[in-house]
Amino acid sequence: MSQPIQFPLPASELPTHWSNLLPDFPEPLPPPLHPGTGEPVTPDLMEALFPATLVAQEMCGDETVEIPQEVRDVYSLYRPTPLLRAVRLEKALNTPAHIYYKYEGVSPVGSHKPNTAIPQAYYNKIAGTKRLASETGAGQWGSSLAFACSLFGLECTIYMVKISFQQKPYRKLLMQTYGAEVHGSPSLRTEFGRKVLADHPDSHGSLGIAISEAIEDQATHPGTKYSLGSVLNHVCLHQTVIGQETIKQMEMAGEEPDIVIGCSGGGSNFAGIAFPFVRKKIREGRRYRIIAVEPASCPSLTQGELRYDFGDTAMTTPLMMMHTLGHDFMPPSIHAGGLRYHGMSPMVSHCLKLGLIEAAAVPQLKVFEAAVQFARSEGIVPAPESAHGIATVIDEAVRCREEGRKEVIVFNLSGNGLLDLAAYDSFLSGKMMDSGDDA
Ligand SMILES: *Cc1c(COP(=O)(O)O)cnc(C)c1O
Repeated sequence: MSQPIQFPLPASELPTHWSNLLPDFPEPLPPPLHPGTGEPVTPDLMEALFPATLVAQEMCGDETVEIPQEVRDVYSLYRPTPLLRAVRLEKALNTPAHIYYKYEGVSPVGSHKPNTAIPQAYYNKIAGTKRLASETGAGQWGSSLAFACSLFGLECTIYMVKISFQQKPYRKLLMQTYGAEVHGSPSLRTEFGRKVLADHPDSHGSLGIAISEAIEDQATHPGTKYSLGSVLNHVCLHQTVIGQETIKQMEMAGEEPDIVIGCSGGGSNFAGIAFPFVRKKIREGRRYRIIAVEPASCPSLTQGELRYDFGDTAMTTPLMMMHTLGHDFMPPSIHAGGLRYHGMSPMVSHCLKLGLIEAAAVPQLKVFEAAVQFARSEGIVPAPESAHGIATVIDEAVRCREEGRKEVIVFNLSGNGLLDLAAYDSFLSGKMMDSGDDA
């Protein structure tokens, strides 16, 4: 009999709570600091940007947080998501390793990001917010927030990194279809955008610049709040539905992972799959290897310093203790737009510092070789971001072959690449280079 390759969770197994890793840390997470005073930020400062519930979650000491029923109702449009065993990839690699993937690309926008966009829109709605302003790189976060805002009746304004705004018309159209207003960043709508354009009229933009524009938009418009799609503790919290479901599905498969892998830009999808396993590591002494994979050209975890830095280019956010390449770092224009961020989630950074996780960096061509091999064996065209994880999965599976070890690997396939086919065009036509620029 052929092996089962799908491990579907029934709707009744949709998680009822998010899993909060903050209280588990053997050493407390260093707090965010006020950029002016250098003192830990007080909730009122953050409540200018975010509704009080999200600020409370940012500093929450409870080990779990209940998921509101309204949020669970929207989650059930696409959750629980599938866990599959990649038997054809195992065969192609001729590896004794067992490879499983949690597939978050089944959400309406094709990635894990709605897992936090939905509760963020919900908590804003019940707090009386009328409009959300945010930024997006390649457009995955913008489309997730636009989708969530449309379901909860909020207006949505997105500052989209200009290079993607010009090169990725489909994500812009997706956001507009959900009713959002989209501006290429740097834009002329904010003082900071106008300043960047005055100095660099041809600026391609960056996530750091777009964040500064969205925060300025929030500060200058009553009824508007700001929303962030990664990095922050409450975002990591919301994403833990991924890992909780994965633990149950691995039990259905009758296997315990040796290795857990996720790609890491701001760290949220990685946190989503990893943190419930990190909790088992801390509490039950399990010995998983948990690996965050980033681009070699934007290597905050493997090359950045662990220190206090700003989350944006204009230095308006609180200072966060994180792995950073510097708030003025301009990442090269690699195709995995969602991984082009100078910093890293403080919680993920803290896990690395405490030795609870490992980090790896992969160059762009190797990422797309892995992406194409995955598509040709499993059928799903992975998002370029997710393919960073796949490259490391393949490295580990090859090591298992060479060492004759039957290890169990599970990774988060954070999204599909169906709106990223221009990146595949660059790879397939031989124009792609590791540096980020196309030949
Ligand atoms: C945005 C994005 C990422 C990177 O963001 P994280 O916060 O690090 O998860 C990864 N994969 C996909 C598909 C994305 O859209």
